[in-house]
Parts: sequence; structure tokens; C-alpha cells
Amino acid sequence: MNTMMLKNVKNILEYLSSGFFSPDNIEEALKIYTIYTFSVVGFIFVFILGLLGFSTSDYILTTFLLGGALLLLINLVYLKITANHIYASYMMLYLFFALMIYLVYGGGVNNTGPLWIYALPPTVLFIHGFKKGLLDLIIFIVIISVILFYPNNMLLEANYSMEFKVRIVLSFILLSFFSSLYAYSREKSLKKMKKIQKDLEFFLKRDPLTGLYNRRGYHDGMDRVGDTHGVMLMCDIDYFKRINDTYGHETGDFVLQEVAQCIRENIRKEDVAIRWGGEEFLIFLSDTNINNGYLVGEKLRESIEKLTIYARDETTIKVTLSMGISLLNDTIPLEEAIRNADNAMYVSKAAGRNTVSKY
Ligand code: GH3
Ligand code: MG
Ligand code: MG
Repeated sequence: MNTMMLKNVKNILEYLSSGFFSPDNIEEALKIYTIYTFSVVGFIFVFILGLLGFSTSDYILTTFLLGGALLLLINLVYLKITANHIYASYMMLYLFFALMIYLVYGGGVNNTGPLWIYALPPTVLFIHGFKKGLLDLIIFIVIISVILFYPNNMLLEANYSMEFKVRIVLSFILLSFFSSLYAYSREKSLKKMKKIQKDLEFFLKRDPLTGLYNRRGYHDGMDRVGDTHGVMLMCDIDYFKRINDTYGHETGDFVLQEVAQCIRENIRKEDVAIRWGGEEFLIFLSDTNINNGYLVGEKLRESIEKLTIYARDETTIKVTLSMGISLLNDTIPLEEAIRNADNAMYVSKAAGRNTVSKY
């Protein structure tokens, strides 16, 4: 029976939160789920407490509780319809606040009302985060302190002993303090983790030597540009093996960096430069026709030809590029365009290198 009930509650929660879950933002999804859970659980609790209130003939408390339960229900429906979880979270939390303040003021059933306020700190901090949550808690502490300690119990209906009042406030402060500390460190480490994740993603898609996109990340670059029309430009450094053999691998690396820099300087920010292989670079010129693509290729070829690279011992190194260009559009998919550019590049090699060839 109990498992059936739990399953039903789970089904209801899943139905209510359907459509909000995006695996991209687990933190956000978790918040929405929490607001739902608290609203549903809060509604059930407050509703049952309200019904129990009938037996004590405390009709003000009962009205307050049932009214709260109704508002929680409205909030749930509102959340389901509008998906505005920010407003829903405010409504839910401030309803809880009001209810807790009323429970402290009135004492609830046999003065047990204040016991419920301990549910506030973890809830508020989780939903509103460290800063806003802490501010909420401080305001709450000030309000209940004024109610509890106002001279001659003028603002208080319940009858608490002074020891009880002091301990309620102090223990609540203690719990708020530790919960805030936890929320703070949680937010800090979450932020750090997000940064690490972002850095990892970034470096996974970049070539560490040149800083250009690598083969794993170029789709990201293409997505960023968001254009499927343009020119693919395949570039290969001529006789690069000789540079390595003559000056050493380290100088070879430096030459690759210099060539990458020259490529960067010759393209627009709407274009995408990729280190395609060892000494091969692929450039996507977005929204460009084949003739303009050829002009860009020629300009780059000349820039590389003019480039003088200074090795560590002041020897100067000259390099050239062989290039092939091809069109990318609706009828020519990316893979084919790359293959075509590669083939055109081999035509340039066969033609004596330091050349741009159209596919
Ligand atoms: P071609 O004009 O026909 O392109 O001749 P090539 O010498 O440039 O072509 P080949 O493919 O024979 O040689 C490419 C060389 O690039 C071989 C490899 O050692 C070197 N290479 C590949 N990746 C790197 C790298 O990251 N750093 C260095 N220094 N060299 C690299
Ligand atoms: Mg090559
Ligand atoms: Mg080469």
C-alpha cells in the first residue's frame, strides 16, 4: 500500500515536471524538481496539519493552514502552466515563511509550531542560493526575534518560556549558519567544477601547439559560425619534413605556430581555422563564393611566402603553402567538400607547390 502510494507520488511529480528537464542544466532541473517536491510535500503536510487543526478547534490556525495549502496548490498549477519556476519559488518560499511566522506567533498545536522552522534554512539556501538565501534567513530571524521578545509578549499569542524562546532563536541561528556555510562551499566548488569542465571542453577541442581548433573540435567552430555555405580551403606546408630535418623538431613546432598565426591574421572572425593534421590546416571561409575564396587563398599564400621566420639561432626560415579550395553548400556536404579541397591541394603539389588550385 505504501509503495503504491510512493509510486503514485513519484508519477505525479514526474508528470508535473515533464517538459522541464534538460540534461544540459542539471542544476536548474534539480531546482525545478525541488520546487515541485517541496510544493507537493508542503501541500500534503500543511493540508494534513490543517485538518488536524479542526480537532483542536483552533479555527484561525486551521484557516491559515488550509489557506496555505490552497495557495501551494495554486502555485503548483501556476508552475505547471507557465513553467516560471523563479516566481513559483518565491511564492512557495514566502508562503513557507508566512506559515512559519504564524506558527511561531500562534504556537501551533500545543506550542509545537516553532519546531517546523528548522525546515527553512536548507530549503531556502538550496532554492535561492547562498546570498539571497542568507538574506532571507536573516530577515526571518529578525522578524521572529521581534515577535518572540517584544516587551510583555505583545506580538505573541502563544505562551513560551523565556528559555524556550532563547533556545529556539539560538538553535535556528546555528542551523542557518551551518547551512549557509555548506551552501557557500557547495556553490564555490560547483563554480570551480563548471570552470574546469569548460576549460576541459575548450582544450579538448583545441590544438595545444597553435591554439586553432583541432579535428575533434572543428564542428564546434562550424556551429559557432552557423553557416553551411562557403569555401573550404585545405593548406599543406611544402617540404615541411626538411625543416624538421634541418632545424630540429622544436623549430618545426615554432614554424607551425608562426604559420597558424599568419592564417589567423588573414581570415575574418566569421571564418574557422583548424589544424587538420601535422602540417595541414583547413580553413572554412563562411558565406564566400569560390572566386572570393580563391582571392583569400592567394592572399594567404603570398603572406606565407613573404613571412620570414627567425629560428632560435637567428637563422631565417622561409615556407610556402600548397592549397586547394572547394565549395560547400546545400548539395555538397561537409565531408565531400573537405575531400574535394584535399584533392585540389594535391593538384597544387603536383603543379610544383606554393599554389592555390580550385576543385
Ligand atoms: P610536401 O611538400 O609533399 O607536403 O612535403 P612534406 O615534407 O611537407 O610532407 P610530409 O607529409 O612528407 O611530411 C610532413 C612532416 O610534418 C612529417 C612530420 O614529421 C612533420 N610533422 C607533423 N606534425 C608535426 C608537429 O607537430 N611538429 C613538427 N615539428 N613536425 C610535424
Ligand atoms: Mg601533409
Ligand atoms: Mg607538407
